[in-house]
Amino acid sequence: MTEASFLLPVKNCHPERSAKRQSKDLHWLVSLLVLCLTATAPAQKAPTTPKFNGQAAYALTQQYLAAAPKRYVNSPGHTAAEAFIKSRFALEAAKGDLIVDSFTANNTPIGAVPMRNIIVRYPGKKDGIIVLASHYETNYPLKDINFVGANDGGATTAFLIEMGNYLRTHPPQGYSVWLLFDDGEEALKEWSNSDSLYGTRHLAAKWSQDGTLAKIKAFLLADMIADKDLNIDHDENSTPWLRDLLSTAAKNTGHSASIYAKSYPGLQDDHLPFAQRGVPVLDLIDIDYGPPTQEHPEGGYHHTELDTLDKISPRSLQTAGDLFLELIRLINVR
Ligand SMILES: [Zn+2]
Repeated sequence: MTEASFLLPVKNCHPERSAKRQSKDLHWLVSLLVLCLTATAPAQKAPTTPKFNGQAAYALTQQYLAAAPKRYVNSPGHTAAEAFIKSRFALEAAKGDLIVDSFTANNTPIGAVPMRNIIVRYPGKKDGIIVLASHYETNYPLKDINFVGANDGGATTAFLIEMGNYLRTHPPQGYSVWLLFDDGEEALKEWSNSDSLYGTRHLAAKWSQDGTLAKIKAFLLADMIADKDLNIDHDENSTPWLRDLLSTAAKNTGHSASIYAKSYPGLQDDHLPFAQRGVPVLDLIDIDYGPPTQEHPEGGYHHTELDTLDKISPRSLQTAGDLFLELIRLINVR
């Protein structure tokens, strides 16, 4: 509001008092006070809806890629990636809520490979767990090119770290929320049922045995959701009620234009080992990344040296963050 616009109504409303200087001054002061209070009241009363910070997630992506540009298994960069993730959760580690799930992937095309899933827990008030997951390593077959996976594993790792920053200051009031930084999503030689999803296959089996799996209300996976040109695919391997919930979440947050332009019959991703064991799953993924090429019909940036920071945006990370938080809310009131 400009100064002129709030003074004018006061003068025009009560012309009869114009002769009485003192009265007019007093009236003017009272009116001004009322106007000021009225003008500031909505801002004071409006609830400040806490929001995910897409800009911060983008900055974290930049830092993560600088600390560990190449993060393929069995590499120093992989160790640096783990150290980066752990360093962001000192408070949770002190409370015993950071767990490193170490295991060995046996009989892979490159032999036995030690791997680590990292889990960070934010306890809620209701019995049940919502898992938010992303793989954090880079593709092993691309180890000899300059592949940094800004969108593929980089931004989604940063996304989960920023989600942790949010959850630290806004602890879950409903179900517990667990962040899962999973290892070995990528094939070590060529994608197949046995050469892929090492971390989530291991963890789904482990959680099935120790009873954790039965408590999981939803497994929400983030993969390649920082693409500047974001449109989250309709994945037919995801659980129907969660796919519907994403439509509702998109509608509620004003992001309907950023989902479901394309449908895929069955995306192979980290949600599958959990889906196969009966956990409700949703893969939030935009497989189309960059202009299609003959080698990469899904988009020329996928699994190439072109998957770099300039192809992703804080805006897309914001959209994804809004959707995840709204999904968590909707799952809790379901
Ligand atoms: Zn990949």
